[in-house]
Amino acid sequence: MLGIGDGKKVGSNGDPVGKPIVIPVVPVVPAKTGDKSVDGEKTVKQSPFVVGEAKPVVPSIPNGEKKLVIPELKVRHEKDIEALLQEFVKEAVDKKSSDIHFEPRQDDMVIRYRVDGILRDFHAIDKETEKALVFKLKIASGLRTDEHFAPQDGRIEFIFGKTPIDSRLSIISTTNGEKAVLRLLIKQGKAYTLEELGLEGDLLERVKRSYVKPQGMIIAAGPTGSGKTTTLYSILNIINSREKNITTIEDPVEYEIEGVNHIHVNPKAGLTFANGLRSMLRQDPDIIMVGEIRDNETARIAINAAMTGHLVLSSIHTNDSITTIPRFMNMGIEPYLVASTVNVVVAQRLARRLCEKCKKKTTVEGEQYQEMAKYRSDIAALIKNGDTVYQEVGCEVCEGTGYKGRIGLYEVLELTKPVRNAIVEGADSDKLFEVARKEGLVLLVEDGVKKVKAGTVSLSEIMRVTALKE
Ligand SMILES: [Zn+2]
Repeated sequence: MLGIGDGKKVGSNGDPVGKPIVIPVVPVVPAKTGDKSVDGEKTVKQSPFVVGEAKPVVPSIPNGEKKLVIPELKVRHEKDIEALLQEFVKEAVDKKSSDIHFEPRQDDMVIRYRVDGILRDFHAIDKETEKALVFKLKIASGLRTDEHFAPQDGRIEFIFGKTPIDSRLSIISTTNGEKAVLRLLIKQGKAYTLEELGLEGDLLERVKRSYVKPQGMIIAAGPTGSGKTTTLYSILNIINSREKNITTIEDPVEYEIEGVNHIHVNPKAGLTFANGLRSMLRQDPDIIMVGEIRDNETARIAINAAMTGHLVLSSIHTNDSITTIPRFMNMGIEPYLVASTVNVVVAQRLARRLCEKCKKKTTVEGEQYQEMAKYRSDIAALIKNGDTVYQEVGCEVCEGTGYKGRIGLYEVLELTKPVRNAIVEGADSDKLFEVARKEGLVLLVEDGVKKVKAGTVSLSEIMRVTALKE
C-alpha cells in the first residue's frame, strides 16, 4: 500500500524542497530545458508531482458504468488542476489501473482507467478544465504546450509519500481535441510464481524444462497487455542467483528485480535493443532478457547469444505459439537457427478472474448453448450442453464488475525433437501445428475452458480473450 500524505511541498522554482529529482525524459519533441548528462543521455530537471492531502475534487462512480459530469467543478487555478491530476492518478493507482485515458468528446472530456485490462469510465470534466489539464500534463512532462496537432510523448514522475510512480504520457490530436494517455509504471514489489499466474500441470512442466537448460531461447508471445513481461519476470526470479549475471534490456523497464541489471532502451541516445544487446554481451552475462524482438538485427544477435551459451528470454508480438516460428523466418532468420535455439514459446492471454465472493453457479444449455456453438465451435467442442459453469454477478468486493484480478491462459509450444525437425524441413504453420499437436500442444482456448470448468473464469471471458482458430 502506498503511504499518501506526508505533504512534501514544492518550492517556488518548481523543484521539490530539499531533494531535487532529475528525470530522464525521452520526448518525441525535445524539451527546451534539456541538458547533457555524463553518459550523453538527455535529461530534464523538473519537479515530480508530490501527492499530499489531495482532497477529493470529483466523486468517483462506484460501478464505473455511468459517466458523471460535474457541472460546477470549481477548478480555477493551476494548483487545483494539479490537485485534480494527482487525484486521478492516486485513484487509478489505488484501483490497480495500468493506464489513464483522457478522452475528449464534443462537450466534455471523459477520464477512464484501465482496470484488469478493461477501460472503465470514472469521471468527466468540462472543456475548460480539459484544456487546463492537457496543458498541465504537457508542462509536467516537458512537452511543447504550443503544439496541438503533432503527436508527443513524454514522462512524468508522481510521488506518493515516498513511493515514486513513473509514467509515460502520449498525446495525439483527435477531432474533439487532444487525447492523452498516461501509462502507469508501477514497480511491483511482489513477484508472482508461475503457479500464481495460472501455469499448471503439464504446461508448467514444459516451461520448467525450458529454463533449467543453460542456453537457448524462451519466448513469450501475445498481443500488448497479455502479461508477457510478467511471465518472463517470474522466470527470471526463479533463476536469479548471485553466481549468475543477469541483464535485461527493455522499453521501458517495467519492474526491477534485485541483483538484476536493467537497461532502458533510449533510441535518442543511440541505445536501441540491437546495440544495447551487443554491448551487453561484451560483459559476459549468463542470462539475458530482451524486452521484445521485432527486427532482424535484434533477432540475429539474440539467436547468436542463445547459441553461444546464454539463456535468452524475450517476447514476440504474435497471436499464438505456432505463428511465432514463421515470424522469425519473416524477420530473415534461417529455420535451422530457430530450430536449434528456441527452447519454448509460451503464448498467453490474460482473463479476468471471477470474484470469489459473488460468482454464481449456472449451467450453459438450450438456446444459450446453441448460440455459443454457432460462433465458437471450438469452445462448444469442449463444453457439453448442460455443463456447469460460473458466471459473474457483481458485489461490493469487486465494485459491481463480477471480476477480481486476472489469470493467464497459456499455450506452451515445447520445441521437442519432432517439432525441431519439422521446422528444419521448412514445415508451414499447418504442418507445424499438426506435429506440435502430436507432441501434446494445448491451445489457449483449451487451457481457458479448463479454467472455466474449475470455476476461475467465466465462459464469456474466454470468448472475449481468445479467438476461433482458423
Ligand atoms: Zn464480487
